[in-house]
Amino acid sequence: MAETILPWQVAQWDQLIRAQDEGRLGHALLLSGPGGIGKQRFARALMHWLLCEQPAAQGACGSCRSCRFGLDNPDVHIIEPPEGKRQIGVDQVRELVGVSAQTAHRSGGRKVILIQPADAMNTNTANALLKTLEEPTGDTVLILISDEPARLLPTIRSRCQQIPFPIPARQLALDWLKMTVAEPQQCEVCLDEAGGRPLAAQALFENDGLAARQRCDETLQGWVEGQLNLSQASDALKEFELDFLLEWLAQRSHHLLLAVMGGEGYSVNTVWQRWLNRPAADILSFQQQVLELRAQVQRGVAVNRTLTMESLLLAWIASSKQRAGLGL
Ligand SMILES: [Zn+2]
Repeated sequence: MAETILPWQVAQWDQLIRAQDEGRLGHALLLSGPGGIGKQRFARALMHWLLCEQPAAQGACGSCRSCRFGLDNPDVHIIEPPEGKRQIGVDQVRELVGVSAQTAHRSGGRKVILIQPADAMNTNTANALLKTLEEPTGDTVLILISDEPARLLPTIRSRCQQIPFPIPARQLALDWLKMTVAEPQQCEVCLDEAGGRPLAAQALFENDGLAARQRCDETLQGWVEGQLNLSQASDALKEFELDFLLEWLAQRSHHLLLAVMGGEGYSVNTVWQRWLNRPAADILSFQQQVLELRAQVQRGVAVNRTLTMESLLLAWIASSKQRAGLGL
């Protein structure tokens, strides 16, 4: 069964098919946009299509030799951080120079290289990739996926054909989500919690993320109201991965900002309502701290988890001007 694109990716798909038909498909494509909207799935569908022996406008045939191989196809090369790591190694990228010089296994066919996420390359690794980008061979298509293209080297970005993926229209996302999760009545709230990103909403639903976020809010409330001290609050959050906590804080502060700036339909729960009388600049400053930390964690920078959570909890109090007069 060939991979298919998602309903909100039709415009990007058509754009690439047209480019291919007109002989102007770039040899390096950068699929960019927020995480959790299906860029990887799009990339897989595109890889199958590029390698398919009898591709149609709507996708790969699913039955030719290339399609039957799927991602085990010898002309597919996927570069991603090794298990348990956040960064792509420079050696992994150096191997690509060799791959790009070989001819495709299928005569007259293509080779496809996927780099995901492209922002998991440090400067050394990105410079090694530039060598491949500077000497493109006719039959190689390089696909880069990035949630934060601004973090890529400008020299990499400028050599790629950029295909942006915005957050999909709400109704399209909801219709899809209702077909994929077991409890359609929770779709709206999951989609809101995930900032409109449908696959992130699906993951929240499947991992019981709504209940987990509620437990985080309750811990915060317990601390703000003085039932927990700082280390007790920090301890209570230990059951969650740091990525999960940073995503929770990023999403809550984002919604708060929208609510403070008068965005309709954005509600915030009890503990976060304490911020509603604060200037947007204070919320923005807290959000920036969270996003910077998240970027560091994603880059693989080692952070002390307990200190990080305690400093964020303190920043939360300081910026929201809550818990005045209570000993910390
Ligand atoms: Zn095929």
